[in-house]
Amino acid sequence: MKKNEKIGLIGGMSWESSDLYYQKINKLVNEKMGGLNSAHLILYSVNFQEIEHMQSQGHWNDAAAYLKEIAQKLEFIGVDAIALCTNTMHLVAPEISNHISIPFFHIADAVADEINLANKTKVLLLGTKFTMQKDFYKNLLHLKGIEVVVPNMNQQEIVHSIIYNELCLGKILEKSKQDYISIINDAIADGVQGVVLGCTEIGMLLSNEDVSIQIFDSTEIHVNKLVDFIVNDE
Ligand code: GLU
Repeated sequence: MKKNEKIGLIGGMSWESSDLYYQKINKLVNEKMGGLNSAHLILYSVNFQEIEHMQSQGHWNDAAAYLKEIAQKLEFIGVDAIALCTNTMHLVAPEISNHISIPFFHIADAVADEINLANKTKVLLLGTKFTMQKDFYKNLLHLKGIEVVVPNMNQQEIVHSIIYNELCLGKILEKSKQDYISIINDAIADGVQGVVLGCTEIGMLLSNEDVSIQIFDSTEIHVNKLVDFIVNDE
């Protein structure tokens, strides 16, 4: 007998990628369980404008308190585990996971495990400036034995701006795709063996066919991890 656990998603960062989580989780649960089965989930979707303001002003404590409260509400309602549908806001992940008593599925943990499974040791990390520049994400990969390379400052500006000004608004532009590919190609010349799409919207722009190295799409990998938890044998 398969079990269908309830999952609590904290999303809306942006809603474009939460939409992907919702679709992918339901499709995968149905593939595994068949029939009319779908996921038991609660999606708490925030107003991204408010989150972006906290990020750009460096109000990380406020963001942590806000997301922690949402996680606690989801736990109170009765979900069996929590996931945060964004890489960047994992900057405050400890504030969330330390204040709930149900499992918290960290996106970078899932990504690191997947990289190790693929036997890659050096990867390019693409994401927001916060994810590429601060230590919270890179450290987790380092701890699991993975060398992380980030683009140069100019390239980081491009990657960051495309996320906030296009992808989070659902705009998919060929020029931006080419910009990303050229940044990845520079890193390939530097010896990276894989690229982490460390932002939950980048998978809307790039896929494995676009580059010659393996893509580690954080959204895809996170969803797989969540569905492994959601559907399990009783
Ligand atoms: N969804 C993005 C990420 O995975 C960026 C939006 C945000 O800042 O939360 O990092």
